[in-house]
This record gives sequence, C-alpha cells and structure tokens, in this order.
Amino acid sequence: MWDAIWTGARLATMTTGGAPYGAIGTADDPAAIAVAGDRIAWTGRVSELPGAPETLAHAVHDAGGRWITPGLIDAHTHLVYGGDRAHEFELRLNGASYEEIARAGGGIRSTVTATRAATEEELVASADRRLAALCAEGVTVVEVKSGYGLDLDNELKMLRAARRLEERRPVTVRTTLLAAHAVPPEYQGRPDAYIDEVCHRILPAAAEAGLADAVDAFCEGIGFTPAQTERVFQAASRHGLPVKLHAEQLSDLGGAALAARFGALSADHLEYLSEDGVKAMAEAGTVAMLLPGAFYCLRETKLPPIDALRRYGVPIAVSTDCNPGTSPISSLLTVLNMACVLFRLTPEEALAGATRNAARALGLQESHGTLEPGKAADFALWDIDRPAELSYRIGPNPCAGVVKAGRPVA
Ligand SMILES: [Zn+2]
Repeated sequence: MWDAIWTGARLATMTTGGAPYGAIGTADDPAAIAVAGDRIAWTGRVSELPGAPETLAHAVHDAGGRWITPGLIDAHTHLVYGGDRAHEFELRLNGASYEEIARAGGGIRSTVTATRAATEEELVASADRRLAALCAEGVTVVEVKSGYGLDLDNELKMLRAARRLEERRPVTVRTTLLAAHAVPPEYQGRPDAYIDEVCHRILPAAAEAGLADAVDAFCEGIGFTPAQTERVFQAASRHGLPVKLHAEQLSDLGGAALAARFGALSADHLEYLSEDGVKAMAEAGTVAMLLPGAFYCLRETKLPPIDALRRYGVPIAVSTDCNPGTSPISSLLTVLNMACVLFRLTPEEALAGATRNAARALGLQESHGTLEPGKAADFALWDIDRPAELSYRIGPNPCAGVVKAGRPVA
C-alpha cells in the first residue's frame, strides 16, 4: 500500500525526452502521483493504475484537474540578513550618488553592520518572513548564503540561522559559505589578508561544524580577483566542499571558466560571460544560474549569452537572488516572469530553471527537481490551465497546495 495518492491531476514532471514539461495526463485522461514515506512511488495516468485508488493507497486526494509540478527550488538566495536598504533606495531615487550613500555607511557595509548587530534569533525571524513568501508560491527547497557577517563568529551565526529555518517551515535548506563576498571594514585595503582569514579560519570552522553545503565567492572588480577566488576554491577542495561563484555580473574576469575548472555546481549572474566561458561550463557540467531580479533592480542592459548557453547545452537555472541591496525579491514566480520577459527564456526553460536545473545547481539532481519514482515527494498543486501561466502572470498566486516529503503542508 502507498501512503497517499493524488488523482485527477495533470503532471508537469519536468523530466526530459518526452512531452513538453514532461507532461502526463490530460483533462479527459488525468494523471496520478503516489507517495510512500517521503518518496514518490508512482506517476502515470489514472487509467494505468493497477487497481482502484482506494485499494492502492491509505489516503486518496482528488487534485480536481489541477497541475502538479515538482516543488520549486530557489537555488541562489541571501535570505538571511539584518536590516534592509529601503532608506538607501529612497536616497538614491532622490538624487544621492553611490559615493554619498557609501560615505553615509550605506551599501553592503550597512547590511554587514546590521547583520553583526542582530542575534541569531532575530536573523531567523526576519528571514522566516521572506521564506514564508517563497513557500507560499510552492518553494520546497531553498539555498541560503552567508556573506554579511564577514568574520568567523558572524558567518557561522548566519549559517546556523539559515539551518534553523528548516524548523520553521516545510522546506529543505542548503547552506553556502560566502565569506568571500566583500572585504570587511577591519581588513579595508588588505583583501589578501582577509582571504587568508577565510581560507585558514572561517572556511575550516564552517566545514568542521557541518554548517556549509558549498562555498561561494564574489569574483568581480568590486569583489575579489580570480587569484583570490582560486585560493578560496582550493581551501574548499581541501575540505571536500563543492564550489559555486558569483561571476561575470559586471565584467568578464573569466570567473565562470575558473569555477568550471573546479567542477563548480554553478556559475551565477553571467551577463558578461564569454563564449569560452560557456564552453568551459558545458564541459564541466556547471549550471548557468541566471538572476534576472538583480538585472532588473540594477537596470542592467547587457544580457547573459542565452543563445550560446543553449547551443552548448549548458543547463540554465533561475533564482530570486533575494538580498537587501540588488534584488529585494521574495517571489520566485515573479522572477520566472522576469526570466522570460527580460532574458527571453521560454516558459518551459524558466520552469526547468526553478526545478530540474535548480536541483542540479545544488547537487540534488538525484533526489529533487523532477516528479519521478524514487525522488523526494516534494510537489506543488496549481490552479492553472497550462504551465506557462506560472511565468505569464505577475501578482495572483496560483499555488493551491504544497506537499513536502509526502505530507500535505499547505
Ligand atoms: Zn547573489
């Protein structure tokens, strides 16, 4: 006996090689999905079930013709932080320059100050409000980065806060150490000394405490050089942690190719990615993580090389990049719309970017991201007539239910 079955459904399994969206079922010939424990046990058409649903599962749910997709995965967020930057947003729109804002203690430095001042409990509580919005739209896995503590105690505090979000919501949290996000004020003008601190103290401590699932860095003119980034990646390798990279957002430093050389899970942003970078990513199997929310908020004009990514078969993921400075967005569906409108992804590519390819960007492709027997029973039910509606509308939330680890949670 299965634990539960949902009948009367249309499945967007997001598997490849079959119908668009990996779709199973029609309005006249609906599909079903069964779960056993926390895993998917069966998917197919109701007409193919080996018996009446009541004889096969302890609980039978009627999906009422709704579409079911894999639980959405937001695979690049800075969800945990102190304070916000609404005041700066207003100052800037009233004509203040970046320099004036920076002199007034604004920018990332203000978030570092607020994050250091916050208790772990306060960080959990404020991140939980943003997480609630994500989960209401069918998100069941979220990645959360550190990177606003920028010292040993505060980076670990951020990672612990991120992990504790799992106690608050039916969501799987994957944590990423992003200590190499910016040079902290006490290391001003001494970035290499700070990278020493990251490689020899912060990263080993996070690894030993089991608080980081991956390591990230910000490779950019206003961040760290490729040589500094490489030192962080070498330290990550020594501790057996996979890497990913904020790369080619504002210029082309060859960061994506560097990341690919370390077998990175993903290279993220990529507006300035070169064709050589695309090739390197394709060969390494590194996911291209697109973040249209930051592109939108920064009013960027240089588009990531979508056609080249398609041509070389690089898997494309899409995430909110939820952060207080450049992407204060806690709606993955809105970001899917941005990916279509701004980057011209197809609705199917956008949805794959928040399911199958987002799972790959977290190294979870064996267990998450598609609806297939054996995978985690994480899925969302939607009041829509076709999957394209998930990226078509802005505003209404069509999420009609969420199942996490086999249990209905919303
Ligand atoms: Zn980011």
